[in-house]
Amino acid sequence: MAIAASSWITPTPQGIHLPGADIWVDPSVAVGRALVTHGHADHARGGHGQTIATAETLAIMALRYGVAEGAHPLALHERLTLGDGITAWLAPAGHVLGSAQVVLERQGERVVITGDYKRRPDPTCLPFEPVPCDILVTEATFALPVFVHPPITGEIARLIETSAAHPDRCVLVGAYALGKAQRVIAELRRAGHTAPIWLHGAMEAMCRLYTEHGIDLGDLRLVSEASKEELAGQIILCPPSALNDRWSRRLPDPITAMASGWMRVRQRAVQRNVELPLIISDHADWNELTATIRELSPAETWITHGRDDALVHWCQTHQLKARPLDLVGYEDEDD
Ligand SMILES: [Zn+2]
Ligand SMILES: [Zn+2]
Repeated sequence: MAIAASSWITPTPQGIHLPGADIWVDPSVAVGRALVTHGHADHARGGHGQTIATAETLAIMALRYGVAEGAHPLALHERLTLGDGITAWLAPAGHVLGSAQVVLERQGERVVITGDYKRRPDPTCLPFEPVPCDILVTEATFALPVFVHPPITGEIARLIETSAAHPDRCVLVGAYALGKAQRVIAELRRAGHTAPIWLHGAMEAMCRLYTEHGIDLGDLRLVSEASKEELAGQIILCPPSALNDRWSRRLPDPITAMASGWMRVRQRAVQRNVELPLIISDHADWNELTATIRELSPAETWITHGRDDALVHWCQTHQLKARPLDLVGYEDEDD
């Protein structure tokens, strides 16, 4: 029964620990041996003795943190013996390139740790694979009923329409450099936007890594290589931190946009001076979180990422056993 799994899996504030096998999942501190779900900074830290992850996640970590030592690639669905009778395998999480859920099995019990995930199709990564389990350790970034993400096609259409309506200006879209930026670009392409898309220098390397992994992003160019006149009527992507800094002053009268699940909250858009909020998230929204728990129907649900109260309450009102895990250091960098 699921209750027994608590004896071989120990949630700690620094991550999930398997004491018998001495391995951690997404630890926020350097450890001897780590299983890493994906490349975002709140899950992937450098400095582990051995890092087990998908080849894509390892490539992202090598690019971001210069971590290459101790890298142990694990293909999706490949089984790995960890010791203490525990076997681990990875299933796609649908979050960013290379993102995976960690599936742990021991004596007929199965625990799934989602990492970050979403259920919407994303042209830049494999879709989330539902894995039935005894204990589900789920993220809860947008675990409030107010967070219902609209279809991405509508948000991308608003972006294209805004750009077309202002041929003398540019639209400057703040988007996180890993995942969000590439998804926005790929969805622009899918919507028929074939014009060059211009990048802040900080996004170039990650976009190239995606391209090298077979994700077609079309004609990408660097803002630093363009004249001000060339950028009129164009769509430009930059890290959120560059939206209102000196860098954007050389652009032609930018219309400020931001692609984030938090744009559902008007106050967040106002805080960032965002004129065109685009509600685009790489996380499950409230409906996806609850539908996934129903679908997998675990004996217990453990909830991470801070916004856990509403989801714990929802589980309890549906006669599902749930508990919050107070993990530290999981931020919303990658929303
Ligand atoms: Zn993430
Ligand atoms: Zn996260």
